[in-house]
This record gives sequence, structure tokens and C-alpha cells, in this order.
Amino acid sequence: MIKSILLSWLTRTDLGNLNAGEGAGNLSDLKLYDNGRKPYVSGQAVRRALFDTIQRNYPEHFHCSPETPCGDVENCWSCDLRGFLATEEGKGGTRRWSPVKSSPALGQIQKDIINDLLTRHSDITKENRESKDMRLAYVQMVENTYKVNLVIDVDNIGRVVEPVIETKGKKQKVTGYQTTIDIGEQERMIRVQALLDGVYHLSGFAKQARALNSLAPEFLFISLKNTYNQRGLNALDLDHDCNMHPERLSIILKEHQMLGDQVCVGWTPGVITNESEIRPVFEQYHVPILSVLEAIEWAKEQVGKKQG
Ligand SMILES: [Zn+2]
Repeated sequence: MIKSILLSWLTRTDLGNLNAGEGAGNLSDLKLYDNGRKPYVSGQAVRRALFDTIQRNYPEHFHCSPETPCGDVENCWSCDLRGFLATEEGKGGTRRWSPVKSSPALGQIQKDIINDLLTRHSDITKENRESKDMRLAYVQMVENTYKVNLVIDVDNIGRVVEPVIETKGKKQKVTGYQTTIDIGEQERMIRVQALLDGVYHLSGFAKQARALNSLAPEFLFISLKNTYNQRGLNALDLDHDCNMHPERLSIILKEHQMLGDQVCVGWTPGVITNESEIRPVFEQYHVPILSVLEAIEWAKEQVGKKQG
């Protein structure tokens, strides 16, 4: 029984600005961490891009917008997968924690930040000006290799468990828990498979409205777990030269093997520097080394198989 799925991936981006802060005036500045030396994209933006990608593929299953949730976990993928906080009483209660957790996309290497000066020309002459209007804007851009982590709480997709509350006089106590919504294994797997496809096709970051850039996986580690845990998040961490740590990876794979969790890797050449050192580590633990699309298809197949 697969209880949770961990997806951890690396993506190289070209020079770009995936998730700028609002900035002041005409400056579109990057979000930075590690004393301003590396860029990141917030976890919220990663989640939004993922759900928007799924919605684009399955518009018929999204019945509301996150701002005004319908609360119908049974039928609405938006409310089920995103979670919600509703002000009105809905079918699935008024609050739901999302079964999909995401880390921010963290730039792994220190790179120079480029300030790009944009000029916007306008043919409309403003009233009090003789000349044509020309506005200036700065956009900070950087290229990097990002790491993103996603954990899917398979068990809680399409399921709502609520406490049973007993009232005696003025006192209330929780006497147990009952499942109030359960879409069943078959429907649950359809949603899990849609999530996996969403990771492969991931697109739609804020700045992509005009600029083209992507955080879709190029190097993908997938773990299908028999328990809910979030271990393995640092398997793909890189040093400043894009080297992966072979000993750390080895220990993570060994523990996955001991727990009986199934692992595979989607490999695109050229993403990490020490490929010849890392490939044998995966081989040592009999981890299938596939392409990214094959890895996603492998996970979808395993998920479907396990649930019978
Ligand atoms: Zn909804």
C-alpha cells in the first residue's frame, strides 16, 4: 500500500526571473536566500503552478477558484488537492489541509545576478508632454539549477476524516474519528496520476506570462513509500559546482531499501557534474535509471498496480 510519494527534482533554467518579489517602483527584483547569493521561488508559487497545470489538463474537475472554495472534496479537485479555508459551511467542512506539500524551488549555485533594463515605448502622447512617453523598468535575472521537493499524502486524497465530538452538559470531548468522505481507491489513483502528470508538465510561473522559463523536472528522484514520511528531501542537494554527494545518496538509498520503499530516477544527462560518480550509486541499489517521462510513467503504473 503506497501511503505517500516523494518527488524531488533538479531543473536548470536559462537567464530569467521566475518569481520576483513585488519590488519598489519599476524594479522587478528576484527573491534571494543564502545572504542574497542564491535565488528561490516560493513553495506557494510552485504549488499554484502545479495545480494550474493540472487544471489546464482537467478543467472539468475544477469547480471553483481557490479564493472562493466550494468545499466539495468529493467532486472538486481544486478543493481536494489545494485544500481550503472557507467562511461558509461546505460539504467537506470549512477547512482542509492540502495533501500536497511543496518546498520552495531553491537555486543550488551562486551566480551573478543580471539587471536588465527594459524600456517600454508608447505611441500615446501624454497630455502635458511634448514627447512620446517612454517608461523604464529593471528586471533582475539569474540562471541557476533549482531543486524542488513535493510530497503527496496519497492516503488523504479524496478522504475527509473528522473528529467525533461528544457533548455532556457544557463539556465537549473527542471520542474518536470517523471518515465522512472517501472517494475510493480507483478514483484516488486517478487524482494521484493527474498529480504525477502535472509534475511532468509543470508550467505557468508568474513571470512566464511574458517570459518563457520552466521548473519542470530534468533530474527526478521518485520514492513510493509504505509509510507517510518526508525522508529523502536532500538526496539531490548539489554543491556549488553541481556535484551530488555520493555517500549521502548511498545512505538515503540504503534506508529506502530497508524500508521496502520503491525508488526510481529520471535522468537527463548534463544536469549534474559528477555523473560518472553518481550513476554507480543508483546501480548499486538497483534503482531503475530512466528518462523523466519514463520515471513518471513508472510511478503511475506502480500506483495503479498496488491498488489493484
Ligand atoms: Zn471547489
